[in-house]
Amino acid sequence: MERRNAWKGRPAQELEAIEAMSRDYRAYIDEGKTERECVKVSERLARAKGFDDLAARVREGRALKPGDRVYRCWMNKCFVAFVMGRRPMSEGMNILGAHIDSPRIDIKQNPLYEEDGFAYLDTHYYGGIKKYQWLAMPLALHGVIVKKSGETVSVALGEDEGDPVFCITDLLPHLAADQMGKSAKELIDGDALNLLVGSQPLEGEEKDAVKARVLAVLKEKYGVEEEDFLSAELEAVPAGRARELGLDRSMILAYGHDDRVCAYPSLAALLNTEGTPEYTLCCVLTDKEEIGSVGATGMNSRFFENIVAEVCALSGEPGDLALRRALCASRMLSSDVSAGFDPAFASVFEKKNAAFLGRGVCFNKFTGSRGKSGSNDANAEFIGALRAIMDGAGVAFQTAELGRVDVGGGGTIAYMCAKYGMNVIDSGIPVLSMHAPWEVISKVDLYEGYRCYRAFLDGARPVGD
Ligand code: MN
Ligand code: MN
Repeated sequence: MERRNAWKGRPAQELEAIEAMSRDYRAYIDEGKTERECVKVSERLARAKGFDDLAARVREGRALKPGDRVYRCWMNKCFVAFVMGRRPMSEGMNILGAHIDSPRIDIKQNPLYEEDGFAYLDTHYYGGIKKYQWLAMPLALHGVIVKKSGETVSVALGEDEGDPVFCITDLLPHLAADQMGKSAKELIDGDALNLLVGSQPLEGEEKDAVKARVLAVLKEKYGVEEEDFLSAELEAVPAGRARELGLDRSMILAYGHDDRVCAYPSLAALLNTEGTPEYTLCCVLTDKEEIGSVGATGMNSRFFENIVAEVCALSGEPGDLALRRALCASRMLSSDVSAGFDPAFASVFEKKNAAFLGRGVCFNKFTGSRGKSGSNDANAEFIGALRAIMDGAGVAFQTAELGRVDVGGGGTIAYMCAKYGMNVIDSGIPVLSMHAPWEVISKVDLYEGYRCYRAFLDGARPVGD
């Protein structure tokens, strides 16, 4: 079963649409480099499309009726939006899900120190990274510092032309004989990922004068003290914008395609819904996927269930049974990036069941590892219905597993939604260099992802049990 290259035979106006989607996507990920920033920009886009804050409606007890459009930000790190359908919530929703956290390097709670004339921030990396890839490259600092007063200071430093950047230094090859003999895993110790942030002493200070100067800058720029790091969430991410890749500009090189390349088209598909759909439509963008979906903003938390419960109640179906029915009867595309086949590393893939860049959105019936362990194995009945929807809308799609059997594996948020009994499948966009500071996707896959999500929102129906 060959899947064709999705670029082939595109009329000019579709090539135009592919470019437009890729521009909009790049703008979204340039502005949203962290989960918090993604929530901010998602909220702004939703409001521009007439979506209303669900939290306010809950407080005021204002009922939801078919055609209403609402969103809910959760702890500034998750975003959920709904377009209310004509049918009751208990008949289930068409749900799109993706995550907006990406692998990165987090700043520790007591991070700042001086050593031999340099000031550093100590870090603890977040998610599965190859640590050596993050050395000797420009990094930006994004996040928040929350003061004891409750005031939140937003930080985004290293993105603008005039901003300073930061880096973790590497050893010169001339002195690296020992280092180069180590395995890649041991090349740099996790605790040696120290972010270089200063080198000029503060006039009149004797001890730790470089650190003192960094603190003086922080005080002046952000009005914060050293103690304020205790309640800060600062993330070091690759500095710079998403770029077109290749002489033919067919790809995009960017930080954090995983998983904003699924989150953005999922969100756009929902926000671009017109009129009143038959079933309620939903998009959930979640946090903490890269560290196991734990915590109050991870998909393992009940935040999503709680928000759906509020929607059920405001649409006239209060109570636990209606909530259970709504979740159980739902259909979901749980989207996360797929490992794109890479000719440079062909041996870890099984070609017939690998995702290729340029062949459209990818469905993974199962993920998991070593005998499908930990996998959500989507039902054939659901996949049959999906094939009909995708073929009906002419969406380019492919199917894949993550690598050869027993080579490795991975999982995403599908199995957590499956616990409600809903039909859910892993889907998403193929990526090269996944979890590297700069990842690669194909513009045409992003576009087909968007078309897939639109077709799913319009066409998915209860599958039956
Ligand atoms: Mn992911
Ligand atoms: Mn990931």
